[in-house]
Amino acid sequence: MYDLLILGSGSTAFAAAIHARDLGKTAVMTESRTLGGTCVNRGCLPSKNLIEAARLVYDAAHPRYPGLTPAHLGVDFPALIAQKDEIIREYRDQHYTSILDEADEDAQPPIEVVPGRAVLVDPHTVAVTAADGTARQLAGILAIPPRHPRAGRDPVSHERPADEPGGDGVDRASPFAAYPGRGLHCP
Ligand SMILES: Cc1cc2nc3c(=O)[nH]c(=O)nc-3n(C[C@H](O)[C@H](O)[C@H](O)COP(=O)(O)OP(=O)(O)OC[C@H]3O[C@@H](n4cnc5c(N)ncnc54)[C@H](O)[C@@H]3O)c2cc1C
Repeated sequence: MYDLLILGSGSTAFAAAIHARDLGKTAVMTESRTLGGTCVNRGCLPSKNLIEAARLVYDAAHPRYPGLTPAHLGVDFPALIAQKDEIIREYRDQHYTSILDEADEDAQPPIEVVPGRAVLVDPHTVAVTAADGTARQLAGILAIPPRHPRAGRDPVSHERPADEPGGDGVDRASPFAAYPGRGLHCP
């Protein structure tokens, strides 16, 4: 039984977990994809990195000053993606993974992360199934998403199976409204 059971491990989840730890409470995060959530892995950080690279290419081809000769920069797309992935990895290590390590050093309760997709069992319990099929149940006070989830349904995304009336299988994740605007700073 944890004091705080958090669905996902994005910036908002981390803010909640750190706050719990600072209060001397135990916290566990579940994560079905990559530690750190959308912003660092798929959202703010990678998009801004690649948008800036695209801007450099565009500006070189469209100089704003008369007298500058347009230039076409060569684009090595795999190399661009590799540098983006390296920046993400470093940022994730420095700003997310390291926070998990800090807990041990300060003799505070550790923040645990359980990989896998969480499904609500009851108002205080989720079942988490890892990629290899192993499952475990976690109990605690849930950091709960805005709409009331139904047992058996993905509690964060409220993803509706495509075969359900009105369902299209689209993940409209709107997690952690309980902590609006309390996430870590966006890079
Ligand atoms: C392309 C893009 C660019 C963006 N750019 C910006 C920007 O420039 N500035 C800005 O402020 N915001 C930006 N955002 C939005 C920002 O990324 C999000 O607002 C922010 O990441 C939300 O953080 P969160 O912690 O609430 O959720 P998330 O970071 O999305 O974390 C939720 C986590 O929960 C996990 N999860 C979901 N369901 C389950 C489940 N059932 N079991 C276990 N885990 C689950 C997910 O895998 C995810 O890791 C951007 C988003 C995108 C997609």
